[in-house]
Amino acid sequence: MRTWISSRPALIGLYLAAVLGLSVGVWVYGYVQALDQVAARGRSDLELAADRLVTQLQRYREFAVLMARHPTLELLHTVGDRAVAEAVLLAAADKTGTLTALYADARGQVLASSTGDVPPDLAQSPHFLRALQGALGVSLGIRNGQRTFSFAAPNFGATGKVRGVLVAVVDVVELEQDWRGTLPTVYFTDADGQIFITNRSELLFWKPAGDGAMEAPDLARYDVALQRLGGHEIWLQDWSPYVPQRALYLSTPLPVIEMEGGALIDVTPARRLAALQAAVVVAVCLFLGALLFLTTERRRALALANIVLEERVAARTRALSATNTALRREVREREEAEAALRQAQTELVQAGKLSALGQMSAGISHELNQPLMAIRSYAENGVAFLDRQRPEKAGEALGRISEMAQRMARIIRNLRAFARQESAPVTRVDLGRVLQSAVELTETRREQAAVDLVWQRPEAPLWVRGGDVRLGQVFVNLITNAADAMEGGARRRLEIGIVTSAHTLVTFRDSGPGIEEPDRIFDPFYTTKAVGGGDGMGLGLSISYGLVQSFGGTILGANAAGGGAVFTVALEPWAEEVAA
Ligand code: ADP
Repeated sequence: MRTWISSRPALIGLYLAAVLGLSVGVWVYGYVQALDQVAARGRSDLELAADRLVTQLQRYREFAVLMARHPTLELLHTVGDRAVAEAVLLAAADKTGTLTALYADARGQVLASSTGDVPPDLAQSPHFLRALQGALGVSLGIRNGQRTFSFAAPNFGATGKVRGVLVAVVDVVELEQDWRGTLPTVYFTDADGQIFITNRSELLFWKPAGDGAMEAPDLARYDVALQRLGGHEIWLQDWSPYVPQRALYLSTPLPVIEMEGGALIDVTPARRLAALQAAVVVAVCLFLGALLFLTTERRRALALANIVLEERVAARTRALSATNTALRREVREREEAEAALRQAQTELVQAGKLSALGQMSAGISHELNQPLMAIRSYAENGVAFLDRQRPEKAGEALGRISEMAQRMARIIRNLRAFARQESAPVTRVDLGRVLQSAVELTETRREQAAVDLVWQRPEAPLWVRGGDVRLGQVFVNLITNAADAMEGGARRRLEIGIVTSAHTLVTFRDSGPGIEEPDRIFDPFYTTKAVGGGDGMGLGLSISYGLVQSFGGTILGANAAGGGAVFTVALEPWAEEVAA
């Protein structure tokens, strides 16, 4: 079952959402990391600006302290010359870059001034009052649109009381010049939070207006939206084209000059870096995802192809095993048919033999009767010779009787051998002996038909592959057929010959009328003899054909050129090594 999670669009959507989530995470992490670096750099910039300011102001502090004890100025309380003292103050002011240096008594009466300029409310100014208390006074002020720092140092008289005060007035513009433009937006605010010193002139004299907003001198309000991220404070504002709209806010207190330093550092590079990192992560994830997708698709396609292939193989295997089963069944049926055929053949052979025996029975009984009659007459003769006291003649008769008995025994042995059912495998057979036995077995039939036989038994045994009884049956059949064909003819001559070459050939050549239909003689039940008369069944040659073939030989029947029929039986010579 396909669930929503297994469907490809859902998976792809899920993956893209995960990539999006990851990229947001990477962006935030990268942004915070980059902000840390921006903050560190910004802090050092702010520290630098603050250090410069403090160091510069320190110079004027020390100047004020040192000049307060100047002998020329001290003399002003007694016999001093104002012009001389003012020349000293001017020289010192010029060397230190002080705007105005003046010396006043404890009542605020100016005794000497480097520029001749006398501040109107000197006696009430905070730095003067502080100096009167014996400490170093510092205060900010604006005069004629000019921002100034005023340092006041006391001069203690012999009694230890403050009798005079040296005031050094410093122009802030001089201080700003050093670091203007080189740093990020930096400003310093006084105790009320008003911007007094800055490297962005448009921010001068801005002061807090509550709710985090700032108010310009022209009373315009400038809002600030705050963001906090990873311990950093980010200001979103639209103050000026020269102040970054999205800026990291840093601050540092400056207790020495009673001010606070602030810096606004652009975070755009940090955002860009974070975006770049997130983009790289997204690109890598998308690339890997695409790779994974393609691989999965390919694997899927292969798996599908595999399933199709397996189904095909299974179908083919099923078809093959069905064919195999059918073939096995066929083989079994054939084997059964073959066995039935063999059985039928064996039965036919036997039937053929019995038929032949039936045909031969008349001749056989005649064959046995003849010696029996002879034995009887020899016995009677023997009795007569004994009666006449001629034992030698009687012995002769008995000898003839014994010969006759032997002949009868041989005939009976041949008959028994012929009738026997042979199922032995192919073995070594002496061709001459088997032919001789067949000739003897058919003797009566030949004599009946008055056939002249031309036959010479080979002297040495001639071994061929076959079976005694079955081969004898083939030869008996061929001799009987020849006798049948020639019976009543003018010439009755049967020649049996043996030729040995690659095969051993036995030929039966008769002088009969020849074969009527040579193509049909080996067909079962083909006969030209009177059926039913006990003459022929048409089985002899077909059985002989099967027998010779089972020995690995052949049998042929043809008409001879000079008349008559020739039957040739080709047999395999017995080779010991083949048999082995
Ligand atoms: P059958 O002897 O019972 O007729 P065979 O199979 O032995 O059966 O012979 C088949 C036929 O072949 C015979 O009927 C005969 O016509 C023919 N034939 C066999 N031998 C000869 C022969 N030597 N000369 C002429 N015809 C023959």
